[in-house]
Amino acid sequence: MDFKLTDEQVARRNEFFEVCGELEKKKPANFSGIESIYDSDEGWQYHLNCAKEFAKRGWIALGWPSEYGGQGSVMDRVFFAEARGYYDTPGVDIFGVAMLAPTLLGAGSEEMKREFLPKIAAAEIMFCELWSEPNAGSDLAALTTTALRDGDEYVLNGQKTWSTGAHRSDWAFALVRTDPHAETKHRGLTFLMFDMKTPGITVKPILYMDRGHLYNEVFFDDARVPVKYVVGEENKGWGVTQLLAGFERSSLDAIMMMRRQLEGLVEYCNETKVGGELLAKNPIIRNRIAELACQVEAARALAYRVADQQAKNEMGAIDASAVKVFAGDLSARLARLGADILGPYGQVRSSKWAPLEGFYEKQYQQYFILTVSMGTNEIQRNIIAWYGLGLPRMR
Ligand SMILES: Cc1cc2nc3c(=O)[nH]c(=O)nc-3n(C[C@H](O)[C@H](O)[C@H](O)COP(=O)(O)OP(=O)(O)OC[C@H]3O[C@@H](n4cnc5c(N)ncnc54)[C@H](O)[C@@H]3O)c2cc1C
Repeated sequence: MDFKLTDEQVARRNEFFEVCGELEKKKPANFSGIESIYDSDEGWQYHLNCAKEFAKRGWIALGWPSEYGGQGSVMDRVFFAEARGYYDTPGVDIFGVAMLAPTLLGAGSEEMKREFLPKIAAAEIMFCELWSEPNAGSDLAALTTTALRDGDEYVLNGQKTWSTGAHRSDWAFALVRTDPHAETKHRGLTFLMFDMKTPGITVKPILYMDRGHLYNEVFFDDARVPVKYVVGEENKGWGVTQLLAGFERSSLDAIMMMRRQLEGLVEYCNETKVGGELLAKNPIIRNRIAELACQVEAARALAYRVADQQAKNEMGAIDASAVKVFAGDLSARLARLGADILGPYGQVRSSKWAPLEGFYEKQYQQYFILTVSMGTNEIQRNIIAWYGLGLPRMR
């Protein structure tokens, strides 16, 4: 791919950065990304306000075909993600916009595209992802939540877990077992959407170690949902899931967030003296920062490559997995570097005494998230080894 941006692309990219920079000024105190969106009413309201602003500009539907309200190109979507990541601006429902919408465009019926894409583009409807279960995470096809057909409805029974934001979401997309007698566990699964207010669905919080509420368990007790909201075909949900996973793993905003964090660390080292000497003059710190700066740029280039492939409808599962592994490991290295540089100050919670707004106190506890969610890094490495490099498959 050609990495040089056209003048038009540079102007467009600047526009995204300007608007997100303005929205950043309206951020509630102590706002910090996805956690604040789901955990606090104030954060959720800020998320909705940003979403309305983006929807008004048509930016939620960047790169979609114009018949579904889309505008701009896939590369615009990339620049927009970079800007949001850099300023840690919410306003884009990662599940509805970044995952479900491209999946519907690829595998949804015309009726479903016409019903849901405009609502997603207008930020009228927010989604959660109900895949994982207590005994089905990496081995997702082992899931046991059943959806048995009864006329025009499925009757759902079972349990999902780690459901991010399920307590705030209007709708869900889920993977469920519609044929318990299928020959292999990957068959007999269906990708289904439904309203989270459906009677028989109960959402219970799983509190984070700092008591934050992002994750949930979701229980189904004879919940009846319409058959018409199957994406793709009944019993062929595994393929749809794989399509969605590629979109899920290729996001650029996390990488741009790291770039901003690295800038913050550089600033801190340039201003802070330890033992009478600026941290920025310490050769070990300089070395580690420089090394991470190279890795952030490499991650960005990888993510650009995946976006370019998406634009050409040539996205391979391996490339999205490579971005995911690299970005996940990078977030861990960055958190460790921040904690090392800040020393004891890295343990100060967000307050007026906390350097860098207490970011690393949280980040050090949470850096593993990117290495587990969206399919663990071990599993991504298995995909790369088996699928990408032709090494024997390990079970
Ligand atoms: C912050 C967060 C948010 C999440 N949000 C959602 C969500 O919104 N919706 C949703 O459906 N799920 C969500 N998940 C669940 C996530 O997808 C699973 O945690 C993940 O797939 C791993 O499954 P598991 O936790 O059951 O671990 P397991 O599958 O039990 O794995 C445990 C360990 O064994 C390793 N392992 C397992 N199998 C292999 C193998 N074959 N080869 C090598 N190593 C292996 C894993 O890499 C891991 O280190 C979220 C998870 C986290 C941490």
